[in-house]
Amino acid sequence: MDQVRELLAKFNSRFHSTPKVYRAPGRVNLIGEHTDYNEGFVLPAAIGFSCWVAIAPRDDRKLALYSENFDEFVEAELDYLKPHASGKWADYPLGVAWALEQAGNRLRGANIYILGEVPLGAGLSSSAALEVAAGFALMHLAQHAITLKELAVLCQHAENEFAGARCGIMDQFVACHGRAGNAMLLDCRSLDSKLLPLPPKVRLVICNTMVKHNIGSSEYNVRRQECEEGVRQLSKVLPEIRALRDVSLADLENNRGLLNDLIYKRCRHVVTENARTRAAAAALQSGEVAALRQLMADPHRSLRDDCEVSCPELDIMVDLAMRQPGVLGARMNGGGFGGCKINLVNAADSDQFRERAAQGYRAATGQRPDIYVSEASEGVAIAEPG
Ligand code: ADP
Ligand code: MG
Repeated sequence: MDQVRELLAKFNSRFHSTPKVYRAPGRVNLIGEHTDYNEGFVLPAAIGFSCWVAIAPRDDRKLALYSENFDEFVEAELDYLKPHASGKWADYPLGVAWALEQAGNRLRGANIYILGEVPLGAGLSSSAALEVAAGFALMHLAQHAITLKELAVLCQHAENEFAGARCGIMDQFVACHGRAGNAMLLDCRSLDSKLLPLPPKVRLVICNTMVKHNIGSSEYNVRRQECEEGVRQLSKVLPEIRALRDVSLADLENNRGLLNDLIYKRCRHVVTENARTRAAAAALQSGEVAALRQLMADPHRSLRDDCEVSCPELDIMVDLAMRQPGVLGARMNGGGFGGCKINLVNAADSDQFRERAAQGYRAATGQRPDIYVSEASEGVAIAEPG
């Protein structure tokens, strides 16, 4: 049975009606880490794993939500939504409803069944997949038009303000705008984006370290503050800068004396990472795929040594990958401290890669990694039975 039929059946047995089904994808980020909140560049691609949302209208102003992943049912009144209400998963879809209504879209009450196939909390952006699928579904149900850019911005607003998680715009943007076979260069300041075709025989191979070090979210906020501190110091001599995005490597080196060593390293990561991200986009654009190997290895080093957000498990995974045949590039994906690593691998080598990476990681850490092979996929859409 295909996903859509399965959801129609599950929805029917829970809510006794026939829904419409929507899906939005998770994502990987090929290059551009810790650059989004510095108003810089990222290079993500949507993956072939989605959050599925089945929805049907109700006669009242209630949202009744069931998440199969949590096996939990939550009800809320659209008229009484409050930020940080529960601190639980339902804050993500409820936050999107809240943000859409605040932006002037009167929604309809609905029964909603959620089934996420993006692994939760692994850095593949299950949260944005859920937000975007739910937001798109709620807007369709109420027959309101919205651009994908507006939807992405409101979903980010919901995650920041309602669910209380600081995140940049990348995840929601690519869940909205992803295209099969393409990565995307996104300017996180202007939200200008450009699709970049990936080589057709390349697979996105995602290795989950199966670890998530607890310091991750607090360190993420510390990195943001460290970057803000860098801007504060540098703006004493560079008054025109608004974010690290506006700082060139020459500016940084010339004014190194203003920064302590730690802040300097954090700034160097962001400034060089922005340059690498644009170089990688240019390499994809011109089909110089061989350049990606170095362009993905350098960020990993910079994230490990300058940004200090890697961990032994990610480093082991990257070392293992770089020794396999058919690997165009490998590096950590997401904010760091565990989660997943992304590899670009020739399709013909991807089965062997998967086996060897799993064996090697198990031998080194005792952990069995989850490994997913995907292609770059489409952004949010309504889904019809196959
Ligand atoms: P990531 O986005 O990298 O997967 P996050 O911590 O940002 O990690 O988001 C994970 C959270 O998003 C989950 O803990 C849960 O609250 C919510 N979420 C994601 N997918 C689902 C789902 N299918 N059902 C319910 N909640 C979900
Ligand atoms: Mg997330």
